[in-house]
Amino acid sequence: MTNRLVLVINGGSSSIKVALRRENTAGAIFEAIAERLNTAQARLSTSDGLEQDLSGADHLAALDALLPLVDRHLDQPLSAVGHRVVHGGERFTSARLIDDEVIAGIQANAPLAPLHNPANLTGIRAALKLLPGTPQFAVFDTAFHQSMPPHAFRYALPDELYAVHGVRRYGFHGTSHKYVSDEASVLCGKERGAGAWLTAHLGNGCSSCAVLDGRSMDTSMGLTPLEGLVMGTRSGDVDPNLHAHLARTLGWDLPRIEHLLNRESGLLGLSGLSNDMRELEQARADGHSGAQLAIEVFCYRLARSLAGLAVALPRIDGLIFTGGIGENSALTRALTVKHLAVMGLRLDPDSNSLLPRGEAGRVEAQGSPAILVIPTDEERQIADESLALLDTQPRSQMA
Ligand code: ADP
Repeated sequence: MTNRLVLVINGGSSSIKVALRRENTAGAIFEAIAERLNTAQARLSTSDGLEQDLSGADHLAALDALLPLVDRHLDQPLSAVGHRVVHGGERFTSARLIDDEVIAGIQANAPLAPLHNPANLTGIRAALKLLPGTPQFAVFDTAFHQSMPPHAFRYALPDELYAVHGVRRYGFHGTSHKYVSDEASVLCGKERGAGAWLTAHLGNGCSSCAVLDGRSMDTSMGLTPLEGLVMGTRSGDVDPNLHAHLARTLGWDLPRIEHLLNRESGLLGLSGLSNDMRELEQARADGHSGAQLAIEVFCYRLARSLAGLAVALPRIDGLIFTGGIGENSALTRALTVKHLAVMGLRLDPDSNSLLPRGEAGRVEAQGSPAILVIPTDEERQIADESLALLDTQPRSQMA
């Protein structure tokens, strides 16, 4: 049997990535990303060097542009399409073959992930239209965190809210936390998946996780991807009474407050400038006080979260940075680890600043627990899970 092809579609809050992967083969055959969507700077770039202005494009327009480019690289029919889906709620505890019921389930969970599930569904609908004969799978960011114990996933709220209404902590970025912690174990000479890890996935959305022997023990995101760390435009943790305070004092309604917390806060709100760490680092270097404050709050709150998650582990074998910021921002890593001296974590400044872009590496000082930078590969994780599920499907469903 030849190695099969999987198209992975990963719709993020401000980007869509597609990756054509071949089974049992490292790296992608073809990758394309449309970034900064819904802005005048939206752009499409591909692994074969195509750059295209997508000014003003939304997720649907971007996928319309991307899918014909994928077709040019097919040397056999696609065996599967694997979609990253952010919120599986209580309904989806593992990857699923996409059918009408699964689409309805993803739709039903949209209020829990207002930035992401609609973007994921846009990708799914476009792909179903263009590739009607190919089995398509949904791989949920929440599934990895189903191993959290109740003392980590329950809120201190009346039981009925959990038992009847599913109000609990779910966690997100599961494919990434799983992938990088598996990779870290190999990089540190352990059996794949073994070890006690703190992981920091820092992209436009950000979350941290405590992983013990391949199982999520606790994570920073909760019922929705708003809980936890400071993010690009999301506030992360605020006083739970903030909604009532804003309603009483400013007369704001819920949509206004949700917009504030999801779209106007985080790095963007604090800096008054941008949600983009690259831009903020530049502005900080130029003396912009808002950018400086935003980066300081981002790193301090991240360190506080990681220190808190440490209690979910019996020891710490290492700290892992990943995501666009975690992989590329030596400054963010340095400022964050500075706050974690109490846990014995110390960076080697040269390794940290000289690590080649896109490469995995260890950046701790001698005597510190491991500190690793590991480029995440959610696409690989999604392709692997999609093919594993394809192999379990009855043939009649695949006709
Ligand atoms: P998404 O969650 O949309 O997939 P990414 O993982 O691509 O996002 O991360 C986007 C973030 O990574 C942005 O804040 C961007 O500025 C930041 N980033 C990318 N490259 C760099 C860099 N060289 N230095 C600092 N930040 C960077």
